[in-house]
Amino acid sequence: MSTIGGLLASGTTSFSFEFFPPRTDNGVRALWDVIRRVESFAPSFVSITYGAGGTSRHRTVELTERIVSETTLRPVAHLTAVDHSIAELRHIIGQYADAGVRDVLALRGDPPGSPNAPWHPHPQGMTYAHQLVSLLKESGDFGVGVAAFPERHPRSPDWESEIRHFVTKCQSGADYAITQMFFQAEDYLRLRDRVSAAGCDIPIIPEIMPATDVRQIRRFAELSGAAFPESLAHRLEAARHQPDTAHQIGVDHATEMAARLLADGAPGLHYITLNRSSAALEIHRNVLGAISPATESEALARHPTQRVMRMLTPASA
Ligand code: FAD
Repeated sequence: MSTIGGLLASGTTSFSFEFFPPRTDNGVRALWDVIRRVESFAPSFVSITYGAGGTSRHRTVELTERIVSETTLRPVAHLTAVDHSIAELRHIIGQYADAGVRDVLALRGDPPGSPNAPWHPHPQGMTYAHQLVSLLKESGDFGVGVAAFPERHPRSPDWESEIRHFVTKCQSGADYAITQMFFQAEDYLRLRDRVSAAGCDIPIIPEIMPATDVRQIRRFAELSGAAFPESLAHRLEAARHQPDTAHQIGVDHATEMAARLLADGAPGLHYITLNRSSAALEIHRNVLGAISPATESEALARHPTQRVMRMLTPASA
């Protein structure tokens, strides 16, 4: 089985979904319903986040192993350097290798508690994500992804240092990147151009966050540093007591942005699900052109990437 980097290098448009490891048994059951629905769409991969506070870390490993053994899905395991010695990181990487996981998203991670708290590396650990990329590449035949920030990482003082440090991750062996959430296509396109001008041409997959709940999104946007467009916020605020309308506004905005990104050459789309499938799959169906109430198997039958790309590419292109 090739890695995600290999898949992207072959020119295949990648569609993927992100889950987090639930803390309760009910959460696990609900997530498995979502996983089965997502599986019926045959995505390129699914990714599983790695808890910042430490508590859910074993759940990430367990969930990833279960996805390998019980589904047809290809998992990308997130891994962060937070509070881990290099020996512990080697151990987790070994667990992934033993389970047959081939793809890891290498992240520095945020301090436990708050992303804005001071960052202190583990005394026997790492300080930056590029070191984890190198460790993974030394440890085996892993496909390695990294994080990218269309609006700049909140800790970066300027774009020059942001791009320089991103390029270090490329030079350390990163095969591709997945972005932080963002809500304006121009932010992604500017980042891609800056990275490319600095000599790094790894594929950068945009992350798509369905903005269907304005309070929740504002909180996420504050934590991640993503600017939430005021016009979208006003429309969602106006629909605050009409959840169906708010849902539709969020899905329509994300669909429009996703289609624009693919038409402008994005190598794929990575949907945040928050362990619910409806908004992410709705956007995915829209993007694939399956707007009518098709069944999931019909939607899957309409999946061929070439058809999608023809639909999204302007006739003049
Ligand atoms: P780095 O690339 O190390 O960058 C961190 C900061 O240090 C940046 O400001 C960078 O410019 C700077 N920097 C890098 N190298 C150097 C250097 N050599 N010298 C000086 N400065 C440098 N967090 C989780 O806890 N769990 C998850 O599962 C998770 N999943 C994520 C998935 C995606 C797609 C994204 C975009 C983020 C995710 N995060 C997750 C959040 C991420 O861990 C944080 O945003 C973290 O603050 C940055 O991680 P990084 O890998 O980009 O770090």
